[in-house]
Amino acid sequence: MNDIRIGHGYDVHALAEGLPLVIGGVRIEHTKGCVAHSDGDVAIHAICDALLGALALGDIGKLFPDTSAEFKGIDSKILLRRVCDVVAQHGYSISNIDCTIAMQRPKLRPHIDAMRAALASVVGIEVDRVSVKATTTEHLGFEGREQGVSAHAVALLYK
Ligand code: MG
Repeated sequence: MNDIRIGHGYDVHALAEGLPLVIGGVRIEHTKGCVAHSDGDVAIHAICDALLGALALGDIGKLFPDTSAEFKGIDSKILLRRVCDVVAQHGYSISNIDCTIAMQRPKLRPHIDAMRAALASVVGIEVDRVSVKATTTEHLGFEGREQGVSAHAVALLYK
């Protein structure tokens, strides 16, 4: 492993009543969902940006413009798959991914293993190389007021 790259990603989406909630590739029953051009999967978007960041290729907004009809309502797993293809085209493999989601409600813990499995399957790495963690923000900030959800991700690539 003589060429390793690390990348970081961060994403935020506003929450609104009556929209579907999809996080980490998993549909979660809730009264609110993310406002977005795509399906609003904040965790996948942060992971995409971490992977692109590792290669200094910009962000998913650059790759998949939110003005494009092609990406309207798109399943973010498709975006992640495309980003993984870009990583492979550059000759890199993904060592591991670590993601933290900040959301006050609902409790994400029951969904964490399903998210890890979904993400690992899309990325094509073992589940034990995909970490998903969730935290509330103790009712502080926009996440705490349930106005939005944020996610941070780090990814390590190697050649
Ligand atoms: Mg986003």
